[in-house]
Amino acid sequence: MVPGHEVVGIIEKCGAKVSTFKPGDRVGVAWIFSSCGKCEFCKAGLENLCFEFKGTGRDENGGYAEFMRVPAESACFIPDVFTDEEAAPLMCAGAIGYRSFHLTGLENGQPLGLMGFGASGHLVLKMVRELMHDTEVLVFTRTIEEQEFAISLGAKWAGGIEDNPPFLLNAIIDTTPVWKTMVQSLLYLKPGGRLIINAIRIEHLDQSALASIDYEKHLWMEKEIKSVANITHNDVKAFLEFAGKVSLKSAVQKYPFERANEAIWDLKHKHVQGGKVLVW
Ligand SMILES: [Zn+2]
Repeated sequence: MVPGHEVVGIIEKCGAKVSTFKPGDRVGVAWIFSSCGKCEFCKAGLENLCFEFKGTGRDENGGYAEFMRVPAESACFIPDVFTDEEAAPLMCAGAIGYRSFHLTGLENGQPLGLMGFGASGHLVLKMVRELMHDTEVLVFTRTIEEQEFAISLGAKWAGGIEDNPPFLLNAIIDTTPVWKTMVQSLLYLKPGGRLIINAIRIEHLDQSALASIDYEKHLWMEKEIKSVANITHNDVKAFLEFAGKVSLKSAVQKYPFERANEAIWDLKHKHVQGGKVLVW
């Protein structure tokens, strides 16, 4: 089992009404644990926006145990091409990247920017390369190593956060936790362009960054800002299915379960490429 907010394991027992799975099946459970199933959002397939949304490992017990009980609709089959460790980050960074990418509304040939280049950014870049052959991807990230890595994965251009890109973009996905990149991204959008905020702003409100927003430079010409909240059942299933078809994998770093604290420390203090997975 791979514990945390995304869990991979083998089904031990099924409830009487469950027909989709059987004991012995390998399944994953992503961040979406449950929602009310009755509200306007749930009915429209937008369980991520439900007021009763429950997150795995936050609102309900996650994978820090030998067994966990989950609603059948929250479990999904893991394609055979993936090991447990490979599948776990796909359900997190991958599924959220998938949702962000769809929210851009981008059409093939329209250029996309990625602000920040962590696990989600890698997967979005690989996904765009598979799905939109004429779309060029520009990556903005701090270190030269990450910029070189982006180019090696097929980015058209890579530079720093304040480096002017060679052309303006139809959409930018910001996967960083800071405010400055949001403001900076608005400068790089075409008229009518859309900024997708993929990661929650965990940094304290940066008054100076927001105070620097100039209506004419940053917002004029119908530029849009849209946040991404949680994920839907469909995001997880559709992304896993797509990833399975093209064997899309991300860099993974494994830690034995008893070294969970070390994994969290590394996540906070070290810049390591790819996702972190605890192995039971
Ligand atoms: Zn609901």
